[in-house]
Amino acid sequence: MPTWHSKHSQRALPHDLSVNPMFAQESKEAIPRFHMRDEGMLPETAYQIIHDEIALDGNARLNLATFVSTWMEPAANRLYTESFDKNMIDKDEYPQTAAIEERCVRILADLWHSPEPQKTLGVSTTGSSEACMLAGLALKRRWQNTRKEQGKSTGQPNIVFSSAVQVVWEKFANYWDVEPRYVNVTEEHPYLDAEGVLNAVDENTIAVVPILGVTYTGLYEPVLEIAKALDDLEERTGLNIPIHVDAASGGFIAPFLQPDLVWDFQIPRVKSINVSGHKYGLVYPGLGWVIWREAEDLPEDLIFRVSYLGGNMPTFALNFSRPGAQVLLQYYNFLRLGREGYYEVQKTCQSVAHFLSGEIRKMEPFHLVTDGSDIPVFAWRLKDNYTGNWNLYDLSRQLRMYGWQVPAYPMPEGMEDTTIMRVVVRNGLSMDLAHLFLMNLKQAVEYLDSLDGAIPHGSKKDNGFHH
Ligand SMILES: *Cc1c(COP(=O)(O)O)cnc(C)c1O
Repeated sequence: MPTWHSKHSQRALPHDLSVNPMFAQESKEAIPRFHMRDEGMLPETAYQIIHDEIALDGNARLNLATFVSTWMEPAANRLYTESFDKNMIDKDEYPQTAAIEERCVRILADLWHSPEPQKTLGVSTTGSSEACMLAGLALKRRWQNTRKEQGKSTGQPNIVFSSAVQVVWEKFANYWDVEPRYVNVTEEHPYLDAEGVLNAVDENTIAVVPILGVTYTGLYEPVLEIAKALDDLEERTGLNIPIHVDAASGGFIAPFLQPDLVWDFQIPRVKSINVSGHKYGLVYPGLGWVIWREAEDLPEDLIFRVSYLGGNMPTFALNFSRPGAQVLLQYYNFLRLGREGYYEVQKTCQSVAHFLSGEIRKMEPFHLVTDGSDIPVFAWRLKDNYTGNWNLYDLSRQLRMYGWQVPAYPMPEGMEDTTIMRVVVRNGLSMDLAHLFLMNLKQAVEYLDSLDGAIPHGSKKDNGFHH
């Protein structure tokens, strides 16, 4: 009696079965999702189940919400396959991977004009989130050490950023007991305003954090202007407040597209900078970097030396084990693209952003908020006097019908009554796809107009917004 008619497990299937056991079995039982089965299954069956399930995920190429790289070229993919087993912490086993990490740190320190790129400190992380935590911890410790030397209290540290800050800084403040002080964005100042900064800081401020590439709009916050305001404050009061630049996106854009913009270690007050390797660094997730201006900007007492993997390696990280392959992919991009290559890729993204934002500006319902001139990210809102019977959440849902993921969301505190829609132009959103997107956007607007209010309004929660 053929086993596939019996109640036997898949293990009992004849090994020479020439049809896919996944689809040729009468389904005996659903695969339990929330507890582990007693019996295993064939590798191909397990593969097929998961492969089929993730086919229901969105199409990464049509996701205009995320900043994170979803494409690398075949040679990079080959390198990834060769190195996915490397553990970044195992610097004794993988000394060359560690050496390459070190080279990437030097390259970034140099790109951002550290006065001592060959000597300063920096590390790779799982993303900007971990990088921001490390930078924040260094700033907090530095402030504590200085206060202790002065015999002053260290009980009430605070940190200053705009209300448009990325959620990681709210986490930092919450997890490490630092009071977050928000300078609200406004219509006139949709970014961190120097005057607002001066009103928020005091002797307990561990740092001010401007963002190079605000998540909501793509704007650069004015680092130099804020630094000058703090220089002035120091002259008047003696308060010396450092700056950390959250350059998660802009750290890989500004050096190529706005080389004359002064935002980095050229400003002495900028003590550390983070960037996401997996955003405009053009590497798969998850990779981030944090670099200190000079070695002494990272307090020595935060560095751990571990010997149990052989050798005696200094580390500053939240994770112990983590993948090392992404670091190699970052170095691959540095070699493969060079400055010219990065310029070409980012310039192309900017051209696509300018094209799309220019066309959207011409569309009747919309008012353009940003056009993609800082990072290649732009946003728009409905005109104040627009009389259509739909909102941007409806439009977001309508675009989803064509496969496009485009988030709509309210601006942060200070502008919370404004709802905007945003497109992140990443490597891979070609001019060709941009034309198709525009066509679908126009169709979606026409369709919503034609309903004349006969639609249920969208929920804010279901907008696919990715920070
Ligand atoms: C994306 C982003 C982060 C978080 O970075 P991850 O690499 O996703 O952890 C932090 N700050 C800003 C400004 C960002 O754009």
